[in-house]
Amino acid sequence: MHSEVTACTSVLVRAQFHYLYSLASECMTGEGDMTTYDDDVAAVNFDHNDDSVVVIIGSGAGGGTVAHELSEKGISVVVIEAGPRLKLTDFVNDEYDAYDMFTWTDKRTSTGNGEIARKWADSPSWVCKLVGGSTVHWAGLALRWNDEEFRARSTYGEVPGTSVTNWPLNLSDLEPYYAKAEDKMGVTGTNGIPHLPETNNFKILNLGARRLGYEKVNTSYMAINSEPRDGRNACDQIGFCMAGCRSGAKWSTLYSEIPKAEATGNMELRANSMALRVEHDPSGKVTGVVYVDEDGNQQLQKARVVVVACNAIESSRILLNSASNVYPDGLSNSSGMVGKNWTRHMTGYAYGIFDKPVNYHRGTNASGLVQDEWHHDDDRGFAGGYLMGTISLGLPYYAAFLRPGGWGREFSQDVEAYNFVSGIFINGEDMPIESNAITLHDTERDQFGMPVPNINVDDHPNDVAMRNHSLKRSSEILLAAGAKRVLECPPMPGSHNMGTCRMSDSESDGVVNKWGQSHDIPNLFIADGSIFSTAGGCNPTLTIVTLAIREAEYIAEQMRTSTI
Ligand SMILES: Cc1cc2nc3c(=O)[nH]c(=O)nc-3n(C[C@H](O)[C@H](O)[C@H](O)COP(=O)(O)OP(=O)(O)OC[C@H]3O[C@@H](n4cnc5c(N)ncnc54)[C@H](O)[C@@H]3O)c2cc1C
Ligand code: SF4
Repeated sequence: MHSEVTACTSVLVRAQFHYLYSLASECMTGEGDMTTYDDDVAAVNFDHNDDSVVVIIGSGAGGGTVAHELSEKGISVVVIEAGPRLKLTDFVNDEYDAYDMFTWTDKRTSTGNGEIARKWADSPSWVCKLVGGSTVHWAGLALRWNDEEFRARSTYGEVPGTSVTNWPLNLSDLEPYYAKAEDKMGVTGTNGIPHLPETNNFKILNLGARRLGYEKVNTSYMAINSEPRDGRNACDQIGFCMAGCRSGAKWSTLYSEIPKAEATGNMELRANSMALRVEHDPSGKVTGVVYVDEDGNQQLQKARVVVVACNAIESSRILLNSASNVYPDGLSNSSGMVGKNWTRHMTGYAYGIFDKPVNYHRGTNASGLVQDEWHHDDDRGFAGGYLMGTISLGLPYYAAFLRPGGWGREFSQDVEAYNFVSGIFINGEDMPIESNAITLHDTERDQFGMPVPNINVDDHPNDVAMRNHSLKRSSEILLAAGAKRVLECPPMPGSHNMGTCRMSDSESDGVVNKWGQSHDIPNLFIADGSIFSTAGGCNPTLTIVTLAIREAEYIAEQMRTSTI
């Protein structure tokens, strides 16, 4: 994707970028007074042969949360993280530089006719490689699922060509853990936390949506501090949420869960360390993780329990790369489901161009939602529901994603309209398809000699029908609010990665049980978006954190009773 991004960064765009951002300089400093979680803390070191520890691979939403929860319970934890550890002061309010700093750019290939595979062939998925994982990049939208979404197969019936299923749990199982996650992350509109202020972008969304008769319009539920909380600053509304949030107002495991876990004295973080495979003994129990450390040396960290939390693509890749005589198809893959059913949400967005300046970049990147279409309705001609929300991007991303590879007079006019646009992002449930899968490339290897992952993605007709419906409604909202012209834009690379190690009641239909525990190997767990049975219509991270808290509680109990 980066080559595409670079290709459409003309001198004009760069010059405009600096000009427009200088206009907003009064709210760009982002230098907060947060000190609590950015300081170095005394490190604990576990021996490589210590087989009493829980090894967690990945420090993002899932891994960072499990690490904190277990270490608070007195359990020894080693976190192996492929990327570097940054401080808030390393962040730069420039989307390109932030992209280069955070993004997982190790080689990946793609196949299939899905729009994102065609447009972003070398990176149909957008994830991060650093301590904190994609929670450094994320926009902070944090919503609970609807109950019907956990019963997707029962609610939608059979959807031909899909493997849509029910989850082995429902909303009531998760409610107490959702409450803990919202408290942990400081989600606005919960726990007495005020909502964030209305941005210009939100005011336009609100106006247009209400003129169309929509009623569930709000400034959203955000894991962004609207007031100082938990040692983190309040949001300055500077609008660089996806560039890392220098003020620390946005929740990230980088400066919340990870330092808190370290402060217990029970967790060791090994950054710049790439896990290659999970080892097991002759009985099939996992025994440790082989990784390349920051000095380039291969190490084996022994373990009592292993938790894989590498985001849905890399988690599948590690399990597949751990194939052995005992597990010839990879770990936890007796069902053959590892890597399959990749979902990433149906996405797209629309811009309205207005007569007067909107300055949509002022305020959080996501600042409002319309929830009225977020439910299943047979009459719309597709299964599942979707959200429409505001989106605001800096000029570099605006230009890059508007029409990938765009050029010429019309394109530059649309880029020049930057200050006059308001944006709506759509996010809806995409259908799981077994052949939308992560597999190991036959010949291509990465810098560690590990097979690169290939991502196959085809668009299901249900996704296309939902996309058409939601883009039409988004355009209508913008026109109803007074837009003179609407631009419909293609989907961005998938940043919500789910489904590739899905949870199931039956061992033949999924990879883990409702606790995130492997059906095949009791001391192996998975704790990221890959365990979602289906995708639901809303952003996944609150649910990843919720499941991780619940999973950590289960792991601790199983360890206490020596079941694992
Ligand atoms: C631009 C952007 C905006 C987003 N906005 C939102 C939003 O508003 N709301 C929302 O809910 N979600 C959002 N997301 C998605 C959200 O960031 C992810 O859902 C969430 O972070 C996924 O958590 P995870 O634990 O699965 O993976 P991650 O948080 O990505 O963490 C995985 C970690 O594993 C590490 N890793 C991978 N492989 C290895 C290996 N072999 N060895 C060692 N370490 C490894 C990675 O380096 C990474 O740190 C956004 C994502 C992006 C990119
Ligand atoms: S959350 Fe976004 S808008 Fe708020 S301070 Fe952080 S970067 Fe700025």
